[in-house]
Amino acid sequence: MPVGRHPDPGTLYDAVVIGAGFSGLAAAVRFASLGRKVCLLERHTIPGGLNSYYSLGGRVYDVGLHALTNYNTGDARAPLRRALRRLGLEVADLGLDPQTTSRIALGEAELVFSNDPAFLEDGIAARYPAEVDGYRRMVQALPGYADAAEMAGRGGAREFLARHLQSETLRELLLMPPMLYGSPTEDDMDFGVFAALFRAIFLEGLCRPRGGIRTLIRLLLRRLREEGGESYFGCGVRRFEVEDGRISALVLDDGTTLQARRVLSSIGLHETLALAGTATPTGAAGRISFAETFTVFSGTPADFAWKDGVVFFSRGPRFIYHKPDGLVEPASGVICIPENFGPSEGRQEGPQKGRRPEASLRITCLANHENWTRLSEDDYRLEKQRCFAEMRRVALDFLARPGAGVLEARTLATDMFTPRTIVKYTGHFAGSVYGTPAKSWKGVTPFANLRVCGTDQGGLGVVGAVISGLWSADLMALSKT
Ligand SMILES: Cc1cc2nc3c(=O)[nH]c(=O)nc-3n(C[C@H](O)[C@H](O)[C@H](O)COP(=O)(O)OP(=O)(O)OC[C@H]3O[C@@H](n4cnc5c(N)ncnc54)[C@H](O)[C@@H]3O)c2cc1C
Repeated sequence: MPVGRHPDPGTLYDAVVIGAGFSGLAAAVRFASLGRKVCLLERHTIPGGLNSYYSLGGRVYDVGLHALTNYNTGDARAPLRRALRRLGLEVADLGLDPQTTSRIALGEAELVFSNDPAFLEDGIAARYPAEVDGYRRMVQALPGYADAAEMAGRGGAREFLARHLQSETLRELLLMPPMLYGSPTEDDMDFGVFAALFRAIFLEGLCRPRGGIRTLIRLLLRRLREEGGESYFGCGVRRFEVEDGRISALVLDDGTTLQARRVLSSIGLHETLALAGTATPTGAAGRISFAETFTVFSGTPADFAWKDGVVFFSRGPRFIYHKPDGLVEPASGVICIPENFGPSEGRQEGPQKGRRPEASLRITCLANHENWTRLSEDDYRLEKQRCFAEMRRVALDFLARPGAGVLEARTLATDMFTPRTIVKYTGHFAGSVYGTPAKSWKGVTPFANLRVCGTDQGGLGVVGAVISGLWSADLMALSKT
């Protein structure tokens, strides 16, 4: 990624896109493919935003990525396929490895799901026979994606689930994955967001791009280059100049001033308004943040009898989904074992020359940004070690246990990130991952030529962010303001 290059201050851009996360990347490709002179600005040296990658000790790690949602191989009109086509890409370009199974474990209760919705329905019929008709009616009652966006802000998912299902345990089991994968609200979830994520996870399924998130990032950058779009890394926007209710100029971190007819920001609604000098009310940017541990072991997941791609877990019969009082909330969370995805159809897995098999374990739990921020550097290091051990101890209760000392002996590498890391590399206020609960569903801001896309426009997750970027670019490219 060329860093240090800067856009030409003499150019009047049709559009400047701020932030090279997935919504910003997709939006920039779209503007360029519509023939607009577009410039994508990213403060970090690497693209990807909340789902980026980094190198450590000779390995390249994805940040965060468990899985892409919306796998759905069968339907050419399905959201992921449609979005890729509009970007000039095909599903085959990503080499998507589907999940085999994932599991939801809530105390003693358990449900397994795959990319075949009938598999989940059969599991519900077997474990909750009195509920299966209600479950089918619930699925029928889910709005489609377009209607789900319209329904945002009109009630909670718990009330919707209770209308169809008697068993509180089953309701918790079905609510946990959508909430953990995208709810900006604590304890309950906006119905519209729930409907979209329920479809994306349970009805369309999970997958991972072969080669990790870099595969999609590289494809998007290549498409941007092919369409003639410009991108600059290590090139943040420090503030806006405002005249007559419009953004008249962008001042970059190095003091350069840029002019653009339209500005599309993917950095978060409040983070964007702050560039125009608007203060953020306490908590408005969102309270949901995460810590994540990462361990690489020698061997395959099968060596440890770990079968699932993703495990959503809760120690108790109700999962916990609010900002913890301590540093992390290890009692509920998500485990991901990336090597348990795939292989995709038609791919032969042969031994890779010179490479020993490795299995990795990613454990994600809610975390408290303020508490992590208050720590001194020494305490931060110590607390990371303590929380790493605690998160792993709880999560391993939900996986088959290899013999004593096996995991320790097979550990090749470990790492951990906290809300502090999220702020450092993405600038999201309070390390907020799912953004503000009060989304700007139409992407509008108080400034006529400034819109937001991505998480705070309601585009949750990587696929949601891409779709949001495309939608926002289309809207802005056609707009007269
Ligand atoms: C731990 C974790 C696990 C996740 N797991 C998954 C998963 O498995 N599947 C999934 O689909 N989603 C997952 N997500 C969510 C997903 O990453 C996000 O929903 C999505 O990437 C958000 O994209 P975005 O474009 O809206 O914003 P962002 O990714 O936040 O992009 C915003 C970009 O703007 C840049 N920026 C900020 N300020 C400035 C500035 N002033 N000037 C220039 N640039 C700036 C930032 O550096 C960043 O690159 C996960 C997120 C986390 C944190």
